[in-house]
Amino acid sequence: MRKNIVAGNWKMNKTLQEGLALAKELNEVLAPKTPNCDVVIGTPFIHLAAVAATVDTKKIGVAAQNCANKESGAYTGEVSAAMVKSTGAEYVILGHSERREYYNETSAILNDKVALALANGLTPIYCCGEALDIRNANKQNEFVKNQLEETIFNLSAEDFKKLVIAYEPIWAIGTGVTASTEQAQDMLKFIRSIIAEKFGQEIADNTSILYGGSCNAKNAPELFAQPDIDGGLIGGASLKAADFVAIIDAF
Ligand code: PGA
Repeated sequence: MRKNIVAGNWKMNKTLQEGLALAKELNEVLAPKTPNCDVVIGTPFIHLAAVAATVDTKKIGVAAQNCANKESGAYTGEVSAAMVKSTGAEYVILGHSERREYYNETSAILNDKVALALANGLTPIYCCGEALDIRNANKQNEFVKNQLEETIFNLSAEDFKKLVIAYEPIWAIGTGVTASTEQAQDMLKFIRSIIAEKFGQEIADNTSILYGGSCNAKNAPELFAQPDIDGGLIGGASLKAADFVAIIDAF
């Protein structure tokens, strides 16, 4: 059966020293526990190797927040999937709405990134989600379906099985506005249903689908209790160990 996952997304926060201090604190707090979910922290590239060397990676998986859409070579400033993997990281967050919006990541670019991540043995945490105007027009299902059809639905079933999906409505990210439990459950159920149509019920039942967008210790228990919500992708509330651990404890 599918895994429950709580994944942090530090975004562009924390110096190397601050990031290491947070990773160390998390590691210490989680050491005596056996959480009912997999725990992942998504750090900036510069932290990856040091954080992976600091935490018990059997307890805390490490994720990059991006990787290049090229294998290697003359791409100044880019970081390849192979480089990410070589740090000890096991996951990569791809398709986050901030990357799509501010760095013009199209479906074509994301297809290359997902393929390279998989080829290098990384687990993509693939993000999707609609903007407020689409939600207000009640076109969110259509929009998310299209995002998936243009990208990860083109994968083989074998490759698709290796992904984690995160639904993050853009209007709920960093805004303090969480999708209602019902809105989140409805969308994740819908995503699971279209996975079933495309890849079959067994694969749909085994795919971990996370909710993200102003998820915190207060709303996590109700969200995580929903049948189709397999955990969260956590931004702001992953920046302090106590807040993040409280969300992990919601499972
Ligand atoms: P948030 O961010 O929890 O701060 O809303 C979530 C995300 O963007 O992954």
